[in-house]
Amino acid sequence: LSLTDPVELHRICVCVRKRPLNKKEVTRKEIDVVTVPGKGVLLFHEPKQKVDLTKYLDNQLFHFDYSFDESSTNDLVYRFTAKPLVKTIFEGGRATCFAYGQTGSGKTHTMGGDFSGKAQDSSKGVYSLAAHDVFNLLQQRRYADMDLSPYVTFFEIYNGKVFDLLNKKTKLRVLEDEGQQVQVVGLQEVPVSSVDDVIRLIEKGSACSMAACGCFCFNTYSNDRKTMVETAEINRSLLALKECIRSLGQNSEHIPFRMSKLTQVLRDSFIGENSRTCMIAMISPGMNSCDYTLNTLRYADRVKEL
Ligand code: ADP
Repeated sequence: LSLTDPVELHRICVCVRKRPLNKKEVTRKEIDVVTVPGKGVLLFHEPKQKVDLTKYLDNQLFHFDYSFDESSTNDLVYRFTAKPLVKTIFEGGRATCFAYGQTGSGKTHTMGGDFSGKAQDSSKGVYSLAAHDVFNLLQQRRYADMDLSPYVTFFEIYNGKVFDLLNKKTKLRVLEDEGQQVQVVGLQEVPVSSVDDVIRLIEKGSACSMAACGCFCFNTYSNDRKTMVETAEINRSLLALKECIRSLGQNSEHIPFRMSKLTQVLRDSFIGENSRTCMIAMISPGMNSCDYTLNTLRYADRVKEL
């Protein structure tokens, strides 16, 4: 990937980011099951066994808008995912960028990066890079005259309920207004005037979040009841998202956005005119994460069909 490549804008852009093998995976001598041979191509090497018990790797090819290999920096990922969306919102559109993937696959690293502000650009996350671009654009003459006031909202969907992370975790309702726009009622809108303001609010909100940073969180390693409820709800949201995407792809009249809070909240991003969505699917390359990774790749492949 070169930084000068033109960025194409689709209504839904699907990208995959592979993180490097971590120390544990290297110590365990796990093989790397993912290679990224080109800009939008990804090869998954599924370990299989023949009847005579000889092992082999079955290669499966996937195509995405962009696939980022383990050497990609946050800055590069940002340029091809959320950066074009910032432009969209300044043109009056609506934009959504979300991270998807199992725990430990790189959602926080990509979206949050290093909040200390001391980091080089390459380790700042999408939130911070997007905030920089928003404030830079606001200073441009054509926008400076428009008296635009940026604000931040931050909520999480946990077990099908919506909580305001900037207002004492107040439980909120999701409603459709008369113009049929989806609204999270009473969501605190905090005015911001600098990148630091944004980062502080994200830090504050993340600190009281029950789920890990990112849109979805898979917590299937422990088996207590809370985790099971959480996983069931996450699966329900993902199933709902899949169903909505399938219906949209078939131009069906009824799209089941109400199947889950997640799809209800994302509705306007999918159907609104001039709306754009970017999904960044994160994958762990180690052999032990093979099933999760294949699942994520298949899921991302479905979203792409839209
Ligand atoms: P998640 O939020 O999906 O659970 P994290 O972002 O916390 O995952 O990532 C898990 C670990 O892997 C962290 O220690 C993180 O620093 C590291 N990591 C993730 N993505 C990368 C990457 N692209 N390059 C280097 N390290 C990464």
